[in-house]
Amino acid sequence: MPEFNHDVLILGAGPGGYVCAIRCAQLGLDTAIVEKESALGGTCLRIGCIPSKALLESSHKYEEAAGGLAAHGVDVQGVTLDLQKLMQRKEKVVKTLTGGVSSLMKKNKVKVYQGHASFTGDDRKVAIGDDTVAAKHVVVATGSVPASLPGVDLTQDRIDTSTDALSYTEVPKKLAVIGAGYIGLEMGAVWRRLGSEVVVLEYADRILPGMDAEIAADAKKIFEKQGLSFRLGVKVTGVSATKSGVTIQVDGADPVKADRALVAVGRKPNTDALGLDKLGVTLTDRGQIAVDKQFATNIENVWAIGDVIPGPMLAHKAEEEGVALAEILHTGRGHIDYNAIPGIVYTDPEIASVGQTEEQLKDAGTPYRKGVFPFLANGRARAIDHAEGKVKVLAHAETDRVLGVHIIGPSAGDLIAECAVAMSFGASSEDIARACHAHPTLAEAVKEAALAVDGRALHI
Ligand code: FAD
Repeated sequence: MPEFNHDVLILGAGPGGYVCAIRCAQLGLDTAIVEKESALGGTCLRIGCIPSKALLESSHKYEEAAGGLAAHGVDVQGVTLDLQKLMQRKEKVVKTLTGGVSSLMKKNKVKVYQGHASFTGDDRKVAIGDDTVAAKHVVVATGSVPASLPGVDLTQDRIDTSTDALSYTEVPKKLAVIGAGYIGLEMGAVWRRLGSEVVVLEYADRILPGMDAEIAADAKKIFEKQGLSFRLGVKVTGVSATKSGVTIQVDGADPVKADRALVAVGRKPNTDALGLDKLGVTLTDRGQIAVDKQFATNIENVWAIGDVIPGPMLAHKAEEEGVALAEILHTGRGHIDYNAIPGIVYTDPEIASVGQTEEQLKDAGTPYRKGVFPFLANGRARAIDHAEGKVKVLAHAETDRVLGVHIIGPSAGDLIAECAVAMSFGASSEDIARACHAHPTLAEAVKEAALAVDGRALHI
């Protein structure tokens, strides 16, 4: 029997793991992947990005049909909600895409093992059920799981994680969302649109901690107009559930009662029952697998990528790391520009961000110029009746290099792509401003914000 069964064995088939597997296979490495769930695709495809976006789309259509089309002269009567059908569509989307990942594994001749993987402690040997598989390189890509708060038991009915909130069988009359990050806001938006009264409780004194504060403040105002209510600066100390509802204990204030509580306070790295201790893999003080810039752990030929290591917990960050690591394993070289990784909140309007926030620039003492352009002055935004929000470009005051772009507005998630590309090429705001943008498009707002850095916006 050969010493190793594979060149590379990847633990976890989320966007980090399966993309790493494809790239390893493209580079000619004998590659295998192990996944404990029956469907491939990880949190992202099964219980994260994809089902949440499917629900956001369906709930958006419902809200539009139930009154949002009148201004267009479209009169819709008798709108009803078939929640079961809405959920079935979401499940179909998930099934199609997770099936697509299985096909990609076959196409690329990646061997798929199904089962829970754990290190045996014997070099790079991994136990999968009754089998033991050895590989020259082992990549840990086991992702993350929902985090909780002290005094909050996520196993109780009505005290929910995002996974539960993706599959409610009836619309909660009142939903309390704990945490005003992107998952809480997206799931809050879904259930508000479908008819829930939604209150969002947040420990910080603002929503979307970590994103640009000006954009987050704009978002709060818009969401309030839509009917979300916020209680900021509140510390949740416990949640208790009965058969009919939940009571959320709040430090120094009256408890909040609701039908269900959605706990969306972040996610934690998934290192449970992996046998990392047997191998002596070092963790950070936040429980992530500690890696160097090349994704190497402290154990030779054991690597880690994605949500299980430090950095933003985003699918595309995990994917980039998967590709970079495959190239490192093959050629010794691989690189990611972490400063050009966009972050998007898929609410309506969308919120998108790349690079540094204005607060970060101020804290670092970096001299910058700022250009802002509102969608109110963009012809396409007016035509489609989505003229809320703005684009904000931050560029270095001396070199004009783009340091950050923050957008709240229609299709912000797509508009941010050109900004990420520009930043990857080290563009100046002048570069974006001088590039021809087609008319009438929402992207013209990006060009105008870049022009505004130099005080030369044309349409305002
Ligand atoms: P994961 O996707 O978590 O995959 C890890 C895989 O490893 C899982 O399939 C797991 O079953 C498997 N595994 C774990 N332990 C073992 C073991 N011992 N043996 C075998 N298999 C194992 N990100 C975005 O970029 N955009 C979004 O819009 C977005 N929306 C989200 C919405 C929600 C509700 C949630 C919860 C997350 C969202 N995310 C989004 C985050 C995104 O899902 C994660 O950042 C991404 O999935 C991380 O990829 P990963 O490969 O590191 O891990």
